Amino acid sequence: MVSMIIKNINILTMNKDKDIIENGVLVIKDNLIFDIGDKTLLAKYSCDNIIDGKNGIMIPGMINTHTHTSMVVFRSLADDVQDRLKRYLFPLEKMLVDKELVYLGAKYGIMEMLLGGVTTFTDMYYYEDQVARAAKEFGIRGVLGETIVDFPSPDSNEPYGGLEYSKWFIEKWIDDKLITPAVAPHAIYTNDTEALQKTAELSKKYNIPMMMHVAEMDYEFEECEKKYNMTPVEYLDSIGVLSERFISAHSILVTEKDIELLNKKSVGISHNMGANSKGAKGVAPISAMYKKNMKIGLGTDGPMSGNTLDILTQMPLVGKIHKLFNQDRSIFPAKEILELATIGGARVLNLDHEIGSIEIGKKADLVLFETDSINMQPIYDFYSVLVYSSNPGNVDTVIVDGEILVKNKKLFQEKNNPEKIIENLKSIKNKILETANKL
Ligand SMILES: [Zn+2]
Repeated sequence: MVSMIIKNINILTMNKDKDIIENGVLVIKDNLIFDIGDKTLLAKYSCDNIIDGKNGIMIPGMINTHTHTSMVVFRSLADDVQDRLKRYLFPLEKMLVDKELVYLGAKYGIMEMLLGGVTTFTDMYYYEDQVARAAKEFGIRGVLGETIVDFPSPDSNEPYGGLEYSKWFIEKWIDDKLITPAVAPHAIYTNDTEALQKTAELSKKYNIPMMMHVAEMDYEFEECEKKYNMTPVEYLDSIGVLSERFISAHSILVTEKDIELLNKKSVGISHNMGANSKGAKGVAPISAMYKKNMKIGLGTDGPMSGNTLDILTQMPLVGKIHKLFNQDRSIFPAKEILELATIGGARVLNLDHEIGSIEIGKKADLVLFETDSINMQPIYDFYSVLVYSSNPGNVDTVIVDGEILVKNKKLFQEKNNPEKIIENLKSIKNKILETANKL
């Protein structure tokens, strides 16, 4: 007896050989992928729960390797303003961010991610325990870290309060089956050397990810040159914090030597094309990194930076901007972009033994796209349809850890009360706007 059978689907496995199984069947037992194959599997297993995939496309759950989910409450505010981070973002956070706002923002953002086919998200923010709480309520997988900064933060009156919080947070969540706790120093311009080394020690002690914004800002690069006569990556390497557990978000302003250093230390790269292009920050040289088989995944960054939380909207941007930037139509074919969105992200998080591809024994984290909508036809190339034609509205079913969380394009578990969450989000808008108008 197995738990669930999904039939009549085209499976893009994203395994090593990128095998595709047309008109296939997928079998789930408990929280794992138990079998994959053609129609003959239907005779092999008995199950009460058989889902007809209606000739849809099934892919591994997509992985968002960098975001600040709760910032969705600020989305569309001050979008086109120069120096938005210091002029709006930091002050707004200082005045408004509390436990309730983080929890509400996390719930709203998680709904959006699930409906867009994200099954694992990587988050750093304040009151991160509230993000973990929301993630557990919905059943999404999360790699979560409390932000560490050298100034008083929304949840700490002391500089570096995030360090103490992290120790408590890690101990609380270390054994959870869906949540992977992480450490998350904000950046080199908001943390000193000692703090970065302390967080790296925590990452090593607990064998957990260390995530950080790296080589993202021009002033970050310039100040680092002036202070240490090194690039941000060289500096991080010189103080001994780079490792295979390190997730480098952005990595735009990197030299060839930096890429070598990142590669040597097996650092994971989170590529945030939507946020980086909107912020006019530059194009991270991920094609050079991809050629070296480095660990690269896609991220949205916070929804105040990139406005979306799903990875589907990132994929066409990755293809189009890299083609334009490199003046090469053949660079990053759709298959490689879907690879970054799935197994690539899993490698960044060092979770590729469990998630990121559809293979027997892996966790059942799956997304089924319907192919009935007008924008989904005709289909000559599954990868191309997903990367360039589909949108989150085509996501029909989402399964995380063997549980159906989205079905027929709707959140399946009504206990989470999506209407109430949407209403609550709208109701705090005026308060946020009043505060922003005074800035
Ligand atoms: Zn970020």
